[in-house]
Amino acid sequence: MCSKESKLPPHVLIFPLPAQGHMNSMLNLAQLLCLSDIHVTFVVSEFNHRRILNRTASDSALERYPGFRFQPIPDGLPKDHPRAGDSVIDVFESAIKFMGSYFDKMMGEKDLLASANTRPVTCIIADGVLSFAADFAAARGIPLIYFRTISASAFWAFFCTDRLVEANEIPFQEIGMDDLVKSIPGMEGFLRCRDLPSFCRVNDTNDPILWSLFNITRQTARAKAVIMNTFGYLEQPILSNISKHMPRIYAIGPGNAHLRSRLGDTSTPSASLWTEDRNCINWLNAQETKSVIYVSFGSITMVTREQLLEFWHGLVNSKHKFLWVMRPGFITGEDEDRIPDVELEKGTKENGYMVEWAPQEEVLNHPAVGGFLTHSGWNSTLESIVAGVPMICWPYFGDQMVNSRLVSEVWKIGLDIKDSCNRIAIENAVRELMEVRRDEFLERADHLAKMAKQAVSEGGSSYCDLNGLIEYIDSLII
Ligand code: UDP
Repeated sequence: MCSKESKLPPHVLIFPLPAQGHMNSMLNLAQLLCLSDIHVTFVVSEFNHRRILNRTASDSALERYPGFRFQPIPDGLPKDHPRAGDSVIDVFESAIKFMGSYFDKMMGEKDLLASANTRPVTCIIADGVLSFAADFAAARGIPLIYFRTISASAFWAFFCTDRLVEANEIPFQEIGMDDLVKSIPGMEGFLRCRDLPSFCRVNDTNDPILWSLFNITRQTARAKAVIMNTFGYLEQPILSNISKHMPRIYAIGPGNAHLRSRLGDTSTPSASLWTEDRNCINWLNAQETKSVIYVSFGSITMVTREQLLEFWHGLVNSKHKFLWVMRPGFITGEDEDRIPDVELEKGTKENGYMVEWAPQEEVLNHPAVGGFLTHSGWNSTLESIVAGVPMICWPYFGDQMVNSRLVSEVWKIGLDIKDSCNRIAIENAVRELMEVRRDEFLERADHLAKMAKQAVSEGGSSYCDLNGLIEYIDSLII
């Protein structure tokens, strides 16, 4: 190594699954590393890169980090593929099948992405679902760290799939959906069959998706370390269980709060794939404190027209103010007029506001917001916890089933209405969250928000884990 190179900082390649939630949390990590003068190459799909560039000057917002750059590669899907709803599994499969070889080629062609002022990649931080990264790292002798974008509890539930099958807890019958699960250590007291990741809802124990997710989860231990977007106070018993199976764990979350705390300001560049409609902030400015329920189901969830109408009637009938993210493509097969009914139109005009995409973190931190009707994606859950906003959870699939149970039964900062979608249940849940049990939920949510902030402040558990991670990355320079 020449003396110039020996003075260069580490160069970390960060590779998320090309989906909004995965990119958001890993971009937070990228910025946290840049703040410690580490060089970061962030791999994005060409499809998403075009959308990020079209949307904002995200690249220029990231100019504050001279060591940061995007590296686009194909995701293997046709341009017109929706990459949402049920077909999101294609994104997952295509990433695993095709992105590995594009990645291999890119790393080979470009001498591990070295340049005059940047070392060759010294360490890869890959999304834990990208199993090819472990093969690549082993073959090329590059240290690999996995980043898991889901909660530690959901990760642990996936990890224990074999125990569930051995104990005959999978497959479970419709009739036993509310039975407590006994074979996941640390979750015996609260997790029901209904709350297991949705992929556990199988009739056949040889279901290929079930075992593919299990294998992906188990192979996390092939990495030298694992980063989790959570914090000790939130999930310590489960982190302790996981740590028995992993070489090292760094729990550095919530990543969004951690970044804000280290940056010392609130404007952080995002990897949003849709244009944020900031008019909703003006609308929120005109509302009373904690009077609005924010409604968003993330970047993947799709609903049928029937489900949409149940949510809509429930919200309007509750008579509470609501701000609703109606993402393009959110409704399956939807071409008809948006507001299908006079009553809904009137109720929405009086109490509602709709946008296609919101600046979610800013919305959740707005004083007018008092509740969040969410699909329980892990980023949304953490963002709500940091903002101290109680939740109504309507999980759509996967890990969200576990997260919503944590919200309602473990942290007790909201309600879980999984597996039901009718206007009366939704109206009742809104009233319970915003009126009847408002104070108790707010009190606990406020406490948890304080704990989250403490974790990322100097001396806190996530703060120390991030410092440990940075030291570890430094130590990986050969
Ligand atoms: N998000 C946003 N604006 C919206 C809706 C969502 O910025 O109108 C962001 C949200 O802040 C979160 C991410 O999109 O960071 C969604 O990730 P999550 O893990 O909650 O759900 P997913 O989209 O992966 O299902």
